Amino acid sequence: MAKLQRGEGEGGDLEKLRKGIAESYDESTGAWEELFGEYIHRGFYDTPSAAPGAAPLTAQDHRRAQLRMIDEALAFAGVSDPEKKPKKILDVGCGIGGDTLCLAKKYGAQCIGINLSPVQVKRAQELAQAEGLADKVSFEVADALNQPFPDGQFDLVWSLESGEHMPDKEKFFSEMARVAAPGATIILVTWCHRDLSPDEESLRPDEMKLLNKISDAHLLPAWCSAADYASFAKSLKLEDIRRADWSENVAPFWSAAVQSGMTWRGIISLLKSGWKTIKTALAVSLLIEGYNKKVIKYNIITCRKPK
Ligand code: SAH
Repeated sequence: MAKLQRGEGEGGDLEKLRKGIAESYDESTGAWEELFGEYIHRGFYDTPSAAPGAAPLTAQDHRRAQLRMIDEALAFAGVSDPEKKPKKILDVGCGIGGDTLCLAKKYGAQCIGINLSPVQVKRAQELAQAEGLADKVSFEVADALNQPFPDGQFDLVWSLESGEHMPDKEKFFSEMARVAAPGATIILVTWCHRDLSPDEESLRPDEMKLLNKISDAHLLPAWCSAADYASFAKSLKLEDIRRADWSENVAPFWSAAVQSGMTWRGIISLLKSGWKTIKTALAVSLLIEGYNKKVIKYNIITCRKPK
């Protein structure tokens, strides 16, 4: 069984953690939407070696990259094949429903998004209404670790940048597998800690120290590696388990985040949101340090439930 690397931050008290995450997104969602639109995730870019000497990126490029992230994840999992069109999709940790709406439009599928923040759920419902998708898409406040759905419901189970917040990674993954229908695809895109080498039992103390600081600042209570997720998938008898490290592909997003936070519009929307949001924004430098030191990785893990 894979070993979790726990941050000390909020890990002990689950109810306090859930409340903290809900309040943090309740407070910050307006600012994130103003700064980054309806997607609360990084963009996918060509790596510097694939696009040498490329022109500086514009705000539009960053937005395109956020949409591209969705397409790249679907393609990686082999869902872009029209023959395999999912009909019922679950978006776990759905934010304000940017991905949920995108997937509903792409596949004409029935979609449900869950997350912990009532403010985000309300905003997601408004966006669905505005896009004329209210009959296709619904949102509810629910815990990914204890989902309110019977087994075997969804033929695509999707989670983009919400896994980081889960205090029990194995339970999180097994809930995604439980609600997946036979033959369903599971797509998880998430920050992990680096894979351990065969002779390591845990990360180095300096790496753990940095992770703990990040955990406290960003409400990320536990960490595991992409290899850990792959072994959860294996022990759940899931098939076609694939994973990749996309850290290089998301790297340009850091400068976009810092740039939009540093504009007057960015500063004003952060100030309007409140202290928790400002604290999280200031702590982005810790995440960047984690990436630069290669302790944190941006990973995709996909698999399929047997038919
Ligand atoms: N996937 C979205 C939002 C990412 S932000 C997007 O790409 O735009 C992280 C989301 O995870 C937030 O909506 C937060 O409420 C949700 N989240 C965190 N912990 C959760 C939990 N235990 N159960 C359900 N959602 C959770």
